[in-house]
Amino acid sequence: MISAKAYAAVSAKKPLQPFQLQRRDPRPDDIVIEIAYCGICHSDIHTARGEWGPTAYPCVPGHEIVGTVVATGKKVRRFKPGDLAGVGCFVDSCGKCQPCKASEEQFCQKHVSYTYNSTELDGTTPTQGGYSTHIVVKEKVAFRIKKGVPLARVAPLLCAGITTYSPLKRYKIGKGHSVGVVGLGGLGHMAVKLARAFGARVTVFSTSPGKESDARKLGANAFVLSTHPEHFEPLVGTLDFLIDTVSARHDFSPYLNCLKNDATMVLVGASPDPSEVLASSLIMGRKRLTGSLIGGTKETQEMLDFCFRKKIYCDIELIPAAKINEAYERTIKGDVKYRFVIDAKTY
Ligand code: NAP
Ligand code: ZN
Ligand code: ZN
Repeated sequence: MISAKAYAAVSAKKPLQPFQLQRRDPRPDDIVIEIAYCGICHSDIHTARGEWGPTAYPCVPGHEIVGTVVATGKKVRRFKPGDLAGVGCFVDSCGKCQPCKASEEQFCQKHVSYTYNSTELDGTTPTQGGYSTHIVVKEKVAFRIKKGVPLARVAPLLCAGITTYSPLKRYKIGKGHSVGVVGLGGLGHMAVKLARAFGARVTVFSTSPGKESDARKLGANAFVLSTHPEHFEPLVGTLDFLIDTVSARHDFSPYLNCLKNDATMVLVGASPDPSEVLASSLIMGRKRLTGSLIGGTKETQEMLDFCFRKKIYCDIELIPAAKINEAYERTIKGDVKYRFVIDAKTY
């Protein structure tokens, strides 16, 4: 077993605390990663606090993981010690079903082993995430990270990056499209950067007046303070696509009204509370409301390579492990620019 230091949630109400973790010895197809950085995704907070349903405590969150490979099993071909590697939101899947064969492992029909608050394929061994010094994963779920990139700023690409890249690609967003991004947090700021990199015009919808100048620096062409309904009026029927990254319950109707006929709004923000949708906001103009979940291994590597080529990285605030709880509170308040990343040297 490999001893790792970590931070864990021990109940929905208590702050995260230092935790000692035993990682498995590498199997033939495993790599051992010494973690350098791990981003704090709002999904970590939803899970640590049991907001999405029961969480198995103790739970070590974290699925935006980058580090250095320090050991490999004897069947490993893609990595050798000294290589950089990344791990995202899942660490295994059946590998045999139709979604797995199509490299959409996040939709595996048998069992997705999420990086934390989940189990290995055996259905019993708990998985523990990246707020930790080490992780052991199958090489098939690890991503290649180019040397020389700003590693801490790469970490959040493993969730915030792929979650926004995937729907923008699926709906073929590019030059000539007007895209709306709802919520300027971890996912939102990557949606702005990526939509702009694909050539789209971007409007940010935010509840935070203080984020306007940042939104523009990130590349947004327009900024709408979403707390004022009258600000939506000039945008009615103008957008080709919307990506909604908001982490709490809110009304979709004013956004749907901004879409052109037949255009699509994709939900990636996963509020624990349901929202009502007024049927007429979809009926009028035949609008589409859909969702998207992270991305598969093939698309995640494609996203990383795209970001490395274009030098697209996350805007982050690097913190020591002792500040994780403070970072949670600040994230909930929307006070984050635009991702907290934990420095694994500080456990
Ligand atoms: P985040 O950094 O906290 O950003 C969320 C943003 O939503 C906030 O910065 C804020 O932006 C806005 N917001 C928060 N509360 C709001 C409210 N009550 N009303 C309106 N706007 C509000 O979170 P994140 O890490 O980007 O994650 C966002 C959501 O996506 C979470 O629910 C997370 O679990 C989910 N997620 C989903 C996937 C997937 O695969 N679908 C992957 C990762 C995360 P403004 O200040 O600009 O208003
Ligand atoms: Zn995430
Ligand atoms: Zn499968």
